[in-house]
Amino acid sequence: MEVNIRTSKREEFINITSYVKGAIKESGVENGIAIVFVPHTTAAVTINENADPDVTIDIINGLNEIVPNLKTFRHIEGNSDAHIKASLIGSSVTVIIENGNLKLGTWQGIYFCEFDGPRLRKFYVKIIEG
Ligand code: ZN
Repeated sequence: MEVNIRTSKREEFINITSYVKGAIKESGVENGIAIVFVPHTTAAVTINENADPDVTIDIINGLNEIVPNLKTFRHIEGNSDAHIKASLIGSSVTVIIENGNLKLGTWQGIYFCEFDGPRLRKFYVKIIEG
């Protein structure tokens, strides 16, 4: 399954859990794994808190403290900070499917992480029975 999304800021986290649940329902798989893969070099995917929206804002602010956009970076596009953040967070997550549901913790959600938006983006969801 391919999902297209439009991001609206340079940096933002978008909760994509419902898309993954939809892919599971569509597949009819009751038990297995769901893989979410982001095919971009300045975006990523992660699992984190879905209750307090300040958490994802703090993650973005924390990453900006860790990875400032240094003038000494060589990449001509000028977005090396976004490339570094994407590599730090990673381009895929795997979640267990049990009885047709994602086996996430109560406070966990799956987030598409934009680091160089706004852009048209996509991610893939692969459901594997087993
Ligand atoms: Zn670049």
